[in-house]
Amino acid sequence: MTGLRLEVDLAKVEDNTRQLVERLRLRNLTVTAVTKAMLGFPDLARMLVSCGVRALGDSRIENVERMRSAGIEGPIQLLRSPIYSQVDRVVSAGVLTLNSETEVLSALAAEARGQGRIHDVMLMVELGDLREGVMPKKLRETVSHVLHLPTLRLCGIGANLACRNGIEPSATNMGQLSALVNSTETTFDIEVEIVSGGNSANLNWAFDTNSVERVNNLRLGEAVLLGREPLHRTPIAGLHTDAFLLVAEVIESKQKPTRPWGQRGENSSGEIAEWDDRGIIWQTILAVGRQDTEANDLTAPAGVTILAASSDHLIVQTHTRMKPGDEIGFEPGYSALLRSMTSPFVAKKKAHRRQLNTNNRTSPCHG
Ligand SMILES: *Cc1c(COP(=O)(O)O)cnc(C)c1O
Repeated sequence: MTGLRLEVDLAKVEDNTRQLVERLRLRNLTVTAVTKAMLGFPDLARMLVSCGVRALGDSRIENVERMRSAGIEGPIQLLRSPIYSQVDRVVSAGVLTLNSETEVLSALAAEARGQGRIHDVMLMVELGDLREGVMPKKLRETVSHVLHLPTLRLCGIGANLACRNGIEPSATNMGQLSALVNSTETTFDIEVEIVSGGNSANLNWAFDTNSVERVNNLRLGEAVLLGREPLHRTPIAGLHTDAFLLVAEVIESKQKPTRPWGQRGENSSGEIAEWDDRGIIWQTILAVGRQDTEANDLTAPAGVTILAASSDHLIVQTHTRMKPGDEIGFEPGYSALLRSMTSPFVAKKKAHRRQLNTNNRTSPCHG
């Protein structure tokens, strides 16, 4: 038995990807499909490439290397600034990197010279969310630094919004990005091929704006995998939001009061527990915990209410008694998905049709 597992329906992810690629193509935007939430899972990567994305994107070199070893040869963008001590691996992986530090750019250039390669770069510019990127007034100086390094090729200028402070992509900040691209081209007499406006949080802007101006690419993870835009976690019309299911097994189910008794201090998570006194309920415990997922980012099925989670236990209320071995499936949000993908305790399984096993007793006894 697999027990605790994350099931992914790749056909739904594929449908999401094809729809996004097509809808954004009509707005002159290409898609970089982001694989980091699935750790660069090669079957996913191959499927995404078959949907006509411009490139794959991942934030970790380990995931990129996994895809390259699996024979995925197309363009890959390394989304997090290359780690200084890893520039050798980054250059040999043959990826385009997103950059904002001149020391890293110089190190990439030297490494590329050593390996006899040209390394492609995109410069990230800060537009207000206060994560990565050079301040707009320093962009010119950073471009000049890149253009003086003959083993680097300046392929793009990009930005990232919403991840840290929830700052929304808008006509204003995307217009500023376009203006910076235009002035860079004029100043240096070059052409900037890729203008990457941001992540899934850019979708409302992309579908609603009058003109995307110079922006021609978005890097999409959450929208592709979960069919949602991250600013309000709204489902995107026509996309599947249920491609993933985290399935866990019942280990205890008993009628218990909702009100604990005895002297009370902090719980295992360092919180003072709170409860509503709702009398006696069916309290069911599942073998999944904070070590495997982000419990407050799970959506329970109808009839099941999540009450609490500790490191290895998820405590829910059910309508009736469940038997040990019964299973309950939860839809993970993006953080729950990231955590579950990364946990070695969670098996990963491709699923096309979901049939939850509610009776494990049919197989023969062992010994
Ligand atoms: C993770 C990441 C993305 C994808 O973000 P989603 O919100 O999942 O679409 C895009 N760009 C960068 C730089 C990232 O780190």
